[in-house]
Amino acid sequence: MIARFASWLGGSFVSLCFPAHCAVCRDATPDGCHLCETCEQDVEPIQAPRCEKCSSPFPGAITEQFTCANCGERDLHFDCAIACYVSSGPVRDFVHGFKYFGQTHLRHTLAAWLAETLDDPRMTAQPFDALVPVPLHHVRQREREFNQAEVLARLIAPRAQRPVWNALKRIRKTPTQTRLDRSERMENLRGAFKVRRPAQVKGKHLVLVDDVFTTGSTVEECSRVLRKAGAASVRVITIARA
Ligand SMILES: [Zn+2]
Ligand SMILES: [Zn+2]
Repeated sequence: MIARFASWLGGSFVSLCFPAHCAVCRDATPDGCHLCETCEQDVEPIQAPRCEKCSSPFPGAITEQFTCANCGERDLHFDCAIACYVSSGPVRDFVHGFKYFGQTHLRHTLAAWLAETLDDPRMTAQPFDALVPVPLHHVRQREREFNQAEVLARLIAPRAQRPVWNALKRIRKTPTQTRLDRSERMENLRGAFKVRRPAQVKGKHLVLVDDVFTTGSTVEECSRVLRKAGAASVRVITIARA
């Protein structure tokens, strides 16, 4: 995996993070990466069977395509939400380190995990026009100094060979979602996003980018406003899924 993303990030990858320590256990890593071989074993990929719509893994033996009960009862505005990893272990630690603790050097590993979604059959089946990061409210972005979704979208854009459009704006600063259930989250997010220029997205196939898919409320609300503005389709990619 490490070799694979080092190759598409090119030489700059190695020089940016060398010399390095494992971000989890602090052991020196010989290849200049941020995850040692031992800790990499704790990375949990999402394997089939999983929900076609939201990628939720299913602990059973199903070979045909299926939609989970959670998605079945909702009228979702995105075609599918794709993540290749479970939000646990080093994946969760890296996302937190990057987002909240200024460990910006972890962005390359995170982008590599995110970029794996581009190879999913649900992505390769139909081309798309642009990557659209889930926006932060400008006050929060000033506090954090960057929008993690936009940083990640820009890192995978060369591989996706598509532009990044900041098509959405967060117009309302919403209280933190962590203690809310799904319906409270949806309520909390109503009217939080706006499409900057509806003409830009009209008739376009878009890929919404975020770091982690938790209940899906944020990406659902973003997809809803994009579709309402005339987007032809919205697919969602995230590094991980809770
Ligand atoms: Zn380690
Ligand atoms: Zn589902």
